[in-house]
Amino acid sequence: MAEITVMGTTGLLGIIGYPVEHSLSPAMQNAAIAHLKANYIYLPFPVVPDQLTQALQGLDAIGVRGFNVTIPHKQAVIPLLTSVSDVARTIGAVNTVYREGAGWYGTNTDIVGFLAPLEAYPGWTEGATVVLGHGGAARAVVAGCAQKSCQQVQVVGRNAEKLQQFFASWENSPLQPNLTVHSWDQLPHLLPSARLIVNTTPVGMHPHVQASPLTDEQWLQVSTQCIAYDLIYIPSPTLFLQQAQKRGAIAIDGREMLVQQGAAALERWLQTEAPVTVMRMALNQKLSDR
Ligand code: NAP
Repeated sequence: MAEITVMGTTGLLGIIGYPVEHSLSPAMQNAAIAHLKANYIYLPFPVVPDQLTQALQGLDAIGVRGFNVTIPHKQAVIPLLTSVSDVARTIGAVNTVYREGAGWYGTNTDIVGFLAPLEAYPGWTEGATVVLGHGGAARAVVAGCAQKSCQQVQVVGRNAEKLQQFFASWENSPLQPNLTVHSWDQLPHLLPSARLIVNTTPVGMHPHVQASPLTDEQWLQVSTQCIAYDLIYIPSPTLFLQQAQKRGAIAIDGREMLVQQGAAALERWLQTEAPVTVMRMALNQKLSDR
């Protein structure tokens, strides 16, 4: 594997989060940087929540060229940036920051990441997309669906008040999904006509690998032509995707979204095409080492 040589001129990139030590981004990004022989290094920066303002000033002071943002700073960073892209504002979260002139510009590459694996199945926009959950990742999914003019987006959640807030939050958005919101008990009416089902809940994530947001019986209502997309990347496949495969449906896991959001961020910083295959291999290696 190619290595990075750090010199006095090496440009700094990184990720801010708390905690950040489990992030898979440094392995993926540094593999790409080494492959490109770019004079950069990508570092993890643990930033406690009440130090975010000082941390951004520090990153600015030491000339960091760009950085990713992860939990818990994705929303809190927005007012600290000079400007924010329309997609990031719509989602309400920034995951990628880069320099523009004298300031910091924030955007969100989760939409690009989410959409990338769906490119192989262009017909998905012609049917209904059922989105399980209405948290941060669901916002990127719904925004991606809107960008692709998906026929219908049906968001399913367990909390009526949060569902209504989620629905209302798109009212003045530049992206206008054809959106309806539903309680979990309405699933029997939604599943038979779903073209795409996206799990954006953490149900089934390591270590709760025996859990799935859908029961075996519910899967019997799903079309065998359906695409099941789980944003979870550990384990792979999740029980949700195993059920989908058993049903004969197409299964997409969360790894490719993770790789593609990282690739899109690297392209912003380096202004060159990201080596996606190298990043995918680095991620898979890191996950198999766990
Ligand atoms: P989040 O903001 O906390 O949202 C989680 C959503 O799931 C909420 O709507 C929550 O509902 C719902 N939920 C949680 N437990 C549930 C349960 N037992 N039954 C039904 N609904 C439940 O989290 P997030 O940031 O959106 O992340 C969600 C998942 O996506 C995580 O697994 C994360 O790893 C994954 N993700 C993957 C990528 C990628 O690149 N592959 C990117 C982002 C996120 P309540 O509000 O009612 O609790």
